[in-house]
Order: sequence, then C-alpha cells, then structure tokens
Amino acid sequence: MTDVVARARQLATELLAPAAAAVEAAGAVPRSHLDRLAADGLHGLTGPADAGGLAADPATVTAVVEELAAGDLATAFVWLQHLGAVARLAAAGPPRLRASFLGDLCRGRLRAGVALQAALRPGPPALRVHPDGGDLVLDGVVPWVTGWGLADLLLVAARDGDDVVFLLADTGDVPTLTAAPQPMTAVAASLTVELRVRDHRVAAERVVQRVPHAELLAGDAAGLRLNGSLALGVALRCTRLLGPSPLDAELAAVRAGLDTAGPVGLPAARAAAAALAHRASGALVAATGSAAVRTGSVAERTAREAVFLLVFGSRPAIRAALLDRLGAAG
Ligand SMILES: Cc1cc2nc3c(=O)[nH]c(=O)nc-3n(C[C@H](O)[C@H](O)[C@H](O)COP(=O)(O)OP(=O)(O)OC[C@H]3O[C@@H](n4cnc5c(N)ncnc54)[C@H](O)[C@@H]3O)c2cc1C
Repeated sequence: MTDVVARARQLATELLAPAAAAVEAAGAVPRSHLDRLAADGLHGLTGPADAGGLAADPATVTAVVEELAAGDLATAFVWLQHLGAVARLAAAGPPRLRASFLGDLCRGRLRAGVALQAALRPGPPALRVHPDGGDLVLDGVVPWVTGWGLADLLLVAARDGDDVVFLLADTGDVPTLTAAPQPMTAVAASLTVELRVRDHRVAAERVVQRVPHAELLAGDAAGLRLNGSLALGVALRCTRLLGPSPLDAELAAVRAGLDTAGPVGLPAARAAAAALAHRASGALVAATGSAAVRTGSVAERTAREAVFLLVFGSRPAIRAALLDRLGAAG
C-alpha cells in the first residue's frame, strides 16, 4: 500500500466514518473535512507534480477513492468532483489557465465542482453556450451539480452546435445562476443542486477545451472505471463491519474485474461493483438486525447509499447488465 493510500485509510477510519452520521444529519459536508483532505495532498491527487499535485498512478487513485468512500460517501463524492475538474484542466487546459488555477486547486486552496452531464449525454443538450463579444454566454439547466456552496469554481460543459465547450466558471451568488437543492435519500450532505443558468457570461479566456461531442461519446466507455470505486468503497465498508466472510473474496474479484476490463468490459464490471455493494449492504442490514431500521444507523445509511450507486454515473450498458444481475432483464 502506498503512503497516500495509507493516509486516506487513516483519515477515513479516524475522521470520516465516525462523523458520517452527524454529517448526514447536518445536511452538509463540513469544510473542515475538505481541509483535512487538502492537508494530506488529496486535492492534488491527480494533479501534476509541477503544480503541487501528487501525480498518482491510476491504481493509487482508485484505492484512495475506495478508502474515502468506505469512510463517508458524501465527503468522498464532493471531493471526487474536484478531482475530475483538476484532471481535465491538467490534461487539456491552455497554459495560461493552468498557471492561474492548477496550483491552488491541487493544494485545495480553491475547490471545484463539475457540471458536465447536461452537455455530454446523448441527445439534445440541456445547457448551451454561444459567443458574445469577448464572452461566452451559458443558458439552460444542469440537473445535478454536487458540492454547491463548497466549490469556488465549476468545470462546466456546454454545447455549441456539434461541439462541447468546457469552461472554468466562478460559482457564487449571482442572479444568472439559480440553485435549487435536490431532495435526496442518499448523500444528502453532498449539497447537490439543480442549477438554472440564464445568460450567464464567462470570459473567453476561461475556456479549457473545445471537443466534438461525437469524439467525447466515442471515448466515454474508457472513462467509466473510477466511479466504480465508489461502489467498491461501500462494499468495503460492509465487509469491514461484517468481519471475515466470502464477501471479502468477492470484493477482491470485482475490484480485479474493474482493473482489468477494457472499454468493452467496463459496463459489466461497473454493474458487478454496484450489485456487490447493494448485496453487501443487504447483508449488513441482516446482520445488524432491527437496529438497522433506525434512521442514522450505519446499516440503513449504507443501504441507501448502495441504492444511489445503482444509478449514479450509469450508462445504458451498465443499466442493462445490472438488470440482468438483478434478475429483471427484459
Ligand atoms: C446525486 C447525484 C449527483 C450528481 N452530481 C453530478 C455532478 O456534480 N456533475 C455532473 O455533471 N453530473 C452529476 N450527476 C449526474 C450523473 O453524472 C449521471 O448523469 C447520472 O447518474 C446518470 O443519470 P441518468 O441515468 O438519469 O441519465 P442522464 O444523465 O439523464 O443521461 C441520459 C442517458 O444518457 C446516458 N449518458 C449519460 N452520460 C453519458 C455519456 N457521457 N455518454 C454516453 N451516455 C451517457 C445515461 O446513461 C442515460 O441513459 C449526479 C447524479 C446524481 C444522482
């Protein structure tokens, strides 16, 4: 185990897990949790070393996500959005934008969320952008934005004709952005909102990247690995609470399946991870007994989180594989 994975495990065990029920009851991931992640360098986990990042390899990144998710899924979920923004800015941002923001993002002095799916998913976009003078103007509705109120910056994807434009927008209380909380049965502390965007102007120098939508869709399957670690983390939490059982070997096999699957195999591997978390959370409920029905118990929170992971970050092929595993394929 690398040092950073060991630090993540310690942080999850000593801070995140003991506080998780209180965090959910309070309805918001505390900034102090994110500060602790930043102090351990985790906001720069995927960032380049020359910007203060840890430049961690994929195996380390997935292991850290799994450990943090095992501790507290809401905190891990908010932090994971930040990682996504750092990764795209580092990989594709123009030098000036990288120089302005990457160092502070890697050190956790600035935090980012993402608003991507409204423009990336197939079909008509829910968020569009058009140029106007030196600005780009955003209009539409982003159904899910996590970490609202915690993030200083938002990596936004918006459609301009056949292209997707990625922009680094400021967040904040402005009349052109209206956030409505999403009422949720799991990860409610992740401060996830529906964001209505009306004539919101972003300076053209904040463009990170412009990519044909068709190119992004063609490459989508290759990027499905990381969210699978959220389900692995929930399953890991269950195995630790249950004690030694055959689920330990299943978890190792499902993790190996995710690690070795190529783009074609990833939807099935993601379905296997989500199904395992769901089943393991059922085992935790059964092992806990009636106390698992009490709101605030770790078993009932874990079961709700496992249900959320049956749908989060899904794709048609993941859904089909999951329905098959759950015995409901058409
Ligand atoms: C609690 C919660 C928080 C979320 N937070 C965020 C967030 O912070 N930022 C954010 O951008 N999204 C966020 N999402 C959205 C998420 O990333 C997925 O879009 C969503 O889980 C899939 O939902 P859906 O099945 O309703 O499909 P939709 O997103 O409505 O997509 C429609 C269809 O297109 C497929 N699809 C979606 N994206 C792609 C793609 N890139 N390539 C190919 N097919 C695709 C879906 O599988 C689905 O079949 C959040 C979702 C939830 C539930």
